[in-house]
Amino acid sequence: MTEFSPLEAHIRHLIATSGPMPVSRYMQLCLTHPEHGYYVARDPLGREGDFTTAPEVSQMFGELLGLWAASVWSAMGMPPEVQLIELGPGRGTMMNDALRAIRILPAFHEAIHVHLVEVSPTLRARQRETLGDTRPVQWHHLLEDIPPGPAIILANEYFDVLPVHQMVKKDTGWHERMIDVDDDIFVFTTAPDPAPRFEVLLPPQVRAAPSGAIFEWRAPTEIMTLARRIRDHGGAALIIDYGHLRSDAGDTLQAVAQHSYANPLRSPGQADITAHVDFQALALAAEDVGVRTHGPVEQGVFLNRLGIDTRAQTLIKHSSNVGAGDVASALLRLTDSGNKGMGSLFKVLGISHPSIETLAALSDLPLPPGPAAP
Ligand code: SAH
Repeated sequence: MTEFSPLEAHIRHLIATSGPMPVSRYMQLCLTHPEHGYYVARDPLGREGDFTTAPEVSQMFGELLGLWAASVWSAMGMPPEVQLIELGPGRGTMMNDALRAIRILPAFHEAIHVHLVEVSPTLRARQRETLGDTRPVQWHHLLEDIPPGPAIILANEYFDVLPVHQMVKKDTGWHERMIDVDDDIFVFTTAPDPAPRFEVLLPPQVRAAPSGAIFEWRAPTEIMTLARRIRDHGGAALIIDYGHLRSDAGDTLQAVAQHSYANPLRSPGQADITAHVDFQALALAAEDVGVRTHGPVEQGVFLNRLGIDTRAQTLIKHSSNVGAGDVASALLRLTDSGNKGMGSLFKVLGISHPSIETLAALSDLPLPPGPAAP
């Protein structure tokens, strides 16, 4: 008889007793099951891990976000105390690089209280190691656990790990995509009945999708909590992730292990399971709460506007030949729109209290003058 991992045995038991489970529930169990979840049990980041994120590519990323935060603090009227919050901080690299860059502005540096939202005990320990004990850091399970007060919130590759629902279009309507066991393996199936009145909530371009199309959506809990906090206590947030600017139909559920794509239905809990972020849905949910949104813009555009090129030149000037090559390739990886680059696949969305009219690097630039009218 096949030996299953404890997590796979648990999921099989749930399906055997309660029937097929939604993709979102499966994803949640795989990633954050309190004992066997992918993130709970390991540090998946870096070259020896499963995937590499922008802060792990180069210190420039966190440094520029630190300077972006400083410009927000200034737009907030330089409050004497501000919470710098990061959602899903991984190894703590981005926060560490941001805080180092912020040291050039002592008044801001002193105003900051650092709060990290992290489910994983393994990664919390790693973050503690990275950040050292030079300043107090508080960890939380949920954003709503953080005490009130003006805040600057950063989230890189966080929203993509939040559980996603998949809906399949049929003649009868949109049916939730489920996971079942068949022939002793996990397989996709659909709920027998369509989700009631689902169609009326959809933007027209998704409603028009052909039969068989898949539409992904996430519960807006997290984005609404974030937006409510900014509306009520002031500040701004920056959400960076891979995803699309406009809600669209398409199956983007993916699993990654050891830097390669894996089958999301095999070895649950052993691979990172994610789906692209729908930036239009995030922006609409935030606006409905009553905050201002900025962008989204592509990551390459955002980093170029923040001056990543100048920072790279400075680092190159102070590096050995090998180091200079590393900086140049990191710059390309972070900003390039080509196959290997994160420049256009990743988008950046800003959210602010309505009193803040612009956020650095996120306002739409005025269009260049067009050709003179005939
Ligand atoms: N931002 C980091 C790590 C991205 S990986 C970077 O860019 O390198 C996703 C992060 O979110 C990890 O730290 C993971 O443990 C955390 N995470 C995943 N699900 C979470 C949840 N439901 N609540 C809080 N943190 C979560």
